Amino acid sequence: MNRSNPNVDAPAAPVTEAGTPQSNFIRDIIREDLKTNKYSGRVWTRFPPEPNGYLHIGHAKAICLDFGLADEFGGGTNLRFDDTNPEKEETEYVESIQRDVHWLGFQWEGLYYASDYFDQLYEWAVKLIKIGKAYVDDLTAEEIRQYRGTLTEPGKESPYRNRLIEENLDLFERMRKGEFPDGSRVLRAKIDMASPNLSMRDPVMYRILHAEHHRTGNKWCIYPLYDFAHGQSDSIEKITHSMCTLEFESHRPLYNWFIEQLGIFPSRQIEFDRLNLTYTLLSKRRLLQLVEAGRVSGWDDPRMPTLSGIRRRGYTPEAIRNFVASIGVTKTNGTIELAMLEHFVREDLNKRAPRVMGVLRPLKVVIDNYPEDKVEQMDAVNNPEDPTAGTRKVPFSRVLYIEQDDFREIPPKGYFRLSPGKEVRLRYGYLVTCTNVVKNASGEVVEVHCTYDPATRGGNTPDGRKVKSTIHWVSAEHAIDAEVRLYDNLFSKEDPNEIEDGQDFTANLNPSSLEVVSHAKLESSLTNAKAGQRFQFERLGYFCVDPETKPGSPIFNRTVALKDTWAKVEKRGGK
Ligand code: ATP
Ligand code: MG
Repeated sequence: MNRSNPNVDAPAAPVTEAGTPQSNFIRDIIREDLKTNKYSGRVWTRFPPEPNGYLHIGHAKAICLDFGLADEFGGGTNLRFDDTNPEKEETEYVESIQRDVHWLGFQWEGLYYASDYFDQLYEWAVKLIKIGKAYVDDLTAEEIRQYRGTLTEPGKESPYRNRLIEENLDLFERMRKGEFPDGSRVLRAKIDMASPNLSMRDPVMYRILHAEHHRTGNKWCIYPLYDFAHGQSDSIEKITHSMCTLEFESHRPLYNWFIEQLGIFPSRQIEFDRLNLTYTLLSKRRLLQLVEAGRVSGWDDPRMPTLSGIRRRGYTPEAIRNFVASIGVTKTNGTIELAMLEHFVREDLNKRAPRVMGVLRPLKVVIDNYPEDKVEQMDAVNNPEDPTAGTRKVPFSRVLYIEQDDFREIPPKGYFRLSPGKEVRLRYGYLVTCTNVVKNASGEVVEVHCTYDPATRGGNTPDGRKVKSTIHWVSAEHAIDAEVRLYDNLFSKEDPNEIEDGQDFTANLNPSSLEVVSHAKLESSLTNAKAGQRFQFERLGYFCVDPETKPGSPIFNRTVALKDTWAKVEKRGGK
């Protein structure tokens, strides 16, 4: 496995020890602008989400760039909602976006909405009409599309293109007043129908839409298109460096055209590569489809690549920021391995997550030579990576649970865990040897009997004998019951968009992306674990307490298993 983006150096070079982020070409541009004093030393950026869905991990890349670079140069960042489309935007999204930006660790300076600028944009539209640079067009949307031409053929001018300025002013005013039905007219910029850049072929600036807006209510029945709002919003806020994804590269000449015609602050747009991840779809529209069709439990389903989903899954903001710093920015779109993102969450949780023992699929173990009523408190290390995390007591008793997987009646070759006649170490406990098994009517092993060696308390062997395996366990009497949710990739195809004729992307949903373990047995120290707390269940992975947890019925989400495929890839030199 390898990241398939050829422009990123492999292997991944994470943030350096000292915390200095990787170099990237946007930083170089900003440095150059500072050198030439282009914006009087000012660095001001913005993050401009459209509030039509929840933010996803792709947005995290944009957020880290926008906020990160401004912070680095002592500047600031505005959060601006690009709410030019009244039909798809909702307050719920506005709130979730703010929550997610904060969670990632960033604070905006100004909080704005493109709709704050509707009056100003309208004035500017009128100004463009007055200088003969905009006109009202009566062509239908379909006709406009046909007249636009193609990449190889020039467009054709609309018969309404040469309307008199007075007539344009009158019609535009009447559009605003609500005299015309939706879709009957638009306002277009008068640029060049033969331009090789389709964005410059008299783009639509305003459309009629009798729809209520989440902030402006029914004040407007004409709305500016994103292309007429975005660049000017940047100008109004005096954004110096306006970063966006590569698909907007061809729109840049248009934004610059508006800036020139209007004589307003010249923000500089810089495009970078969109984040794509294997087995993942990063598109609010697609994610919304999954939510609406009930294919996931909501925007914050832990399988979703949304920030609210991966937060619930147990990801940390630090892990995401380190991941983003490590992938860097380029001018070519590529796809990053999902395993690389997982590597960063493991790396972070390894440092901070307390270790505990929990058994997902319990198998009863009875230690026949251990006294019936005896309970010993064994010392267990909370985090070997962090000596300050200390130790805790874990109760040991005659009846334990181990993982069904850790026992085989007939061990295959190379299986060193428990099997009849074999000895294993119980982590922080004793060495035990399996003596016999009890089976149910269908012949399944339901109970394993062992004897323990009292001289091996804590797992040491005074005679120096070796056991090949150490397994985890919980004391049956003390264990708490929990629901544990195990996740796999939401899509089974590396590229979820790769579909057969007649299918849509949902055909690639992984039918076993969620497995619910209803009666896991966990060590009693987890009794009071709170929603959002993260743990390493030894040998099983990192887990996070789900917000649906209730006292007495805890629910844990597996963030990620322990096996790090990405680290292996790196060791092999990125191949
Ligand atoms: P989506 O297709 O998921 O709706 P979008 O680009 O329409 O994404 P916006 O709300 O317009 O979403 O995005 C806000 C900012 O985040 C934009 O500057 C956009 O370029 C950036 N962004 C969105 N998706 C990604 C991504 N996958 N990688 C990097 N940046 C992204
Ligand atoms: Mg969008």
